[in-house]
Amino acid sequence: MEPVVLICAGLDPSGGAGLLADVATCAVRGVRAAGVVTALTEQDSARTYRVVPVDAALVAAQLARIVADLPIAAVQIGMVGDAKVAQAIASALAQVAAPLVLDPVLRASSGASLFDGDPDALAPLLARAALVTPNRDEAARISRLAVDDRDGQRAAAAHLRGLGAGAALVKGGHLPGDEVVDLFQDGAGELTLSSPRVPGDPPHGTGCALAAEIACALALGAPLRAAVTTAHARLADRIVRARKVGRGRKLLPI
Ligand code: PLP
Repeated sequence: MEPVVLICAGLDPSGGAGLLADVATCAVRGVRAAGVVTALTEQDSARTYRVVPVDAALVAAQLARIVADLPIAAVQIGMVGDAKVAQAIASALAQVAAPLVLDPVLRASSGASLFDGDPDALAPLLARAALVTPNRDEAARISRLAVDDRDGQRAAAAHLRGLGAGAALVKGGHLPGDEVVDLFQDGAGELTLSSPRVPGDPPHGTGCALAAEIACALALGAPLRAAVTTAHARLADRIVRARKVGRGRKLLPI
């Protein structure tokens, strides 16, 4: 029987990011997805026009049903929308032992805000995370440190671990350079994962895809470092193969 990944994420109707894309990643990796929608968005492959967080009590109730029912092997949390939903998810998952991958989504690449409130509101989720996967801006906003280079990535990763995350992967896609270098840090030390930068605008939904790949690998039994390494290679390959599907940004193949 396939393991189950529980995804808490926003709904991007273009399917390029969020829950729809994460479910597709799970399917190709042979993992069963259960999903709770945290926010609805009005969005296409080019832009995000509107975000409507789902009622926090409904999110909590849905999660309570799922965690009481299914054997959860890993949890992936993406866009949560607002502080109330973040708190509801943290409370509902308090008894879930499965490793939790937190992609602390704050803003779309188009610039639209995807989180209404202070990033400090993610604290209860960070405290539960086996791994947090911020991009440069998310790492800087949550840690209140400058993340301009490798030392900045390192300092932000240490800060995030200080907030309770077991490990941090501070992604380097938004830092300059011909190589994209993601910095992973856990209790045992650090790992850098690099891939050649693909020229042009990055495809839509890369952060979601990486977190989903990691959650799938964990659900299938990989240790965290192996899961991160595998997921990084898979995302790099999917970025190379991304194609324009709609009128906006390229979308990743599944
Ligand atoms: N929409 C949803 C539901 C998301 O979860 C995300 C990113 O995590 C986005 C949009 C933004 O994706 P991108 O930054 O690739 O535009």
